Amino acid sequence: MKNINIIIMGSQGSGKGTQSRLLAEKYDLQIFETGNMLREIASQNTEFGKQIDKIINKKGQLVPWNIMKKEVFDWGLNRLNKEKGIIFDGTPRTMKEIEYLDKKLPEIGKKIDYIFYIEISKKESVKRLSSRKLCKKNAHPLIVGKDLDEEETKCPICCSEVYKREDDTPDKVLKRLEWNKENIKPVVEYYDNQKMIIRVNGEKSIEDVNKEIISYIK
Ligand SMILES: [Zn+2]
Repeated sequence: MKNINIIIMGSQGSGKGTQSRLLAEKYDLQIFETGNMLREIASQNTEFGKQIDKIINKKGQLVPWNIMKKEVFDWGLNRLNKEKGIIFDGTPRTMKEIEYLDKKLPEIGKKIDYIFYIEISKKESVKRLSSRKLCKKNAHPLIVGKDLDEEETKCPICCSEVYKREDDTPDKVLKRLEWNKENIKPVVEYYDNQKMIIRVNGEKSIEDVNKEIISYIK
């Protein structure tokens, strides 16, 4: 199977990043994840890097669409291998991003084949995020006690250092979840109207969630 294009949606802590990586391996797909790209830009010691760092890390704001479009979406998609499929991990998040993809994908000879929404309850999400750490290099989410031991300091996936986000406390996590859910609503509605979203129970084990997703891919 070649050149399938997938969107993976799900709240924070749903395990969509992990599932994206598993699918990318199985079907030889390229992962498109805007958060990683922004963090990479923000870590560069350039005027532009500093500007992005200020927006996402210091102010915790969203990067304006005109910058996202040019520096993240255009740049990110143009450098991908057109012969291979893509996994959109957590993208699109807004109607602007949907409009962009609806126009851009046909231009590069692609269309979305599957959209999976990994669902977990608010309670489970809070539980997972409150006990997670992230790695510095790729922001791999790691659940303490499951993905790594409490005293472990290196990411089991990429070996970079792990840390705990200051805002991963239960009350802040809950606020973020509600804010994100409200924001993503139009996107979910848009794809639901096209009957494109396949909902998957994300509270099962990583392997079982993966099996369920794969069972839908023909
Ligand atoms: Zn890592």
